[in-house]
Amino acid sequence: MAGIYLHVPFCRQACNYCDFHFSTNTRNLDAMVQAIVAEARLRAPHFLGLAKGKVQTFYLGGGTPSLLPPESIKTLVSGVSKALNLDVTSLDEVTLEANPEDLSAECIDAWLENGFNRLSVGIQSFDNETLAWMNRAHTGEQAEKGIQLAHKAGFETITADLIYGVPTDRHWKEDVRRALALPIRHLSAYALTVEPKTLLGTLVKRGEEVPAPDQQTVKEYNHLCKTMEDLGWSHYETSNWAAPRENDVYWIAAHNHAYWSGMPYLGLGPGAHGFFPPQRYANVSSNSAYLRAIERQTLQDSREVLSPSDRYNEAIMTGLRTAKGICPSSLQAAHGFRPDVVDSQAWFTALDCGDLISIEEGRYRIPEPRWITGDHVSASLFHVG
Ligand code: SF4
Repeated sequence: MAGIYLHVPFCRQACNYCDFHFSTNTRNLDAMVQAIVAEARLRAPHFLGLAKGKVQTFYLGGGTPSLLPPESIKTLVSGVSKALNLDVTSLDEVTLEANPEDLSAECIDAWLENGFNRLSVGIQSFDNETLAWMNRAHTGEQAEKGIQLAHKAGFETITADLIYGVPTDRHWKEDVRRALALPIRHLSAYALTVEPKTLLGTLVKRGEEVPAPDQQTVKEYNHLCKTMEDLGWSHYETSNWAAPRENDVYWIAAHNHAYWSGMPYLGLGPGAHGFFPPQRYANVSSNSAYLRAIERQTLQDSREVLSPSDRYNEAIMTGLRTAKGICPSSLQAAHGFRPDVVDSQAWFTALDCGDLISIEEGRYRIPEPRWITGDHVSASLFHVG
């Protein structure tokens, strides 16, 4: 299986915590759409050889792709589809990231017509003061109305993003309650992290903002875990929950699953990453440099060939972020290393102190209450060398 990710590098305004690649200058929007299509043509031969016709997911992310006019989205989807000889309507999962302020009836209908069947809505909070603090461009009421509208118009799967661990006076339980009152089938929730090259990072450095205490962040995460468990949702990855579908099947995001499983994916657009095993690439994070390179029919990216050790470490990191955990024998077969041999002391220490538990024959995971702080467990199991 393989996935396709398109990065639309424009936003209406800069959220105070965001370190993704984007620009608030939309002057080159049309040129960017054409350039992403041209990049698809340049990368098509290599990608199609790897994917072997098994493309499963298409994801239009960013940035804020929903700020593109419907005509531009149509040009982008049809252009990339043609370059890759693909019919997006035949894929399992075709996702558009949208911000609540863009959820108009006209846009929603156009997105459905273009083959999108899944909407990922960046809500972050319903509390208007918190949204203003984040410098988001929408209100909580806009998010609620927009999601109801998209659901009624025919979006089968809607997923929402929330952020916890925010140092404002908002009530996290109320945010969770309002999200779950909506017709969503999937929820992603992330802890607010203070990245140095953001407005928030600068304010914290100057002492003008103070991050939320760790105890608050952990308490909010635990409240969400408990609420979702009571509702019968699957907490299948550290930050992701899926509603029940039928017969023990849940509305799990196939696109993310492809990333975590080490499958090939094509990344298009400035700042996008792609993976053509064993090589990973990252496109230049500059709209102007990207446009200049594509105009010359070239690719400006940095590339890294992952060693067996790198791939093993990634499998440990991503595997231990999932409910399925890791299987030492499978890791040995796929990458040549197994954690109980790479560092047996770290392995047995993690088991003895409860950071790792056995879940079924041969598989181990981090238990849910410790998931949020689990990265140190993964790091202790890495192969160095
Ligand atoms: S809308 Fe999304 S990508 Fe754009 S600045 Fe905000 S968080 Fe970042």
